[in-house]
Amino acid sequence: MTEHSPAFLAHYRPSYGRSWSPAAPDYSRCCEIVIGQIHSGQCTRKNGHGPDGAYCKQHDPIAIKAKIAASDAKWRAEQDAKARQAEFANDCKAAIREIAAGHNDPRALAQSIIDKLEGAK
Ligand SMILES: [Zn+2]
Repeated sequence: MTEHSPAFLAHYRPSYGRSWSPAAPDYSRCCEIVIGQIHSGQCTRKNGHGPDGAYCKQHDPIAIKAKIAASDAKWRAEQDAKARQAEFANDCKAAIREIAAGHNDPRALAQSIIDKLEGAK
């Protein structure tokens, strides 16, 4: 039997059962507790991932953080794209008004809006 480091053991709860039916931790499995409608207890997947190898692939806190960061970055990129679209629409509206009011170089005005949009990529 292999010896586990104190750092590894610190990830585990003393018991994964209910107070009326305690279940000792299985150190070959992931240390997370899984709460289900029918069954709650220690995660049944094999450990070997995350800090001290105490987690399964799915519960690896580092992987979870990376996933959240990736999803935040995606959301931010979408918000930026929407903001750019809204700004472009406003610029176009303002340009149309200027042209209607007699702007004397509508080509240059249009080009400046295109340059701004493409430069903002
Ligand atoms: Zn797990």
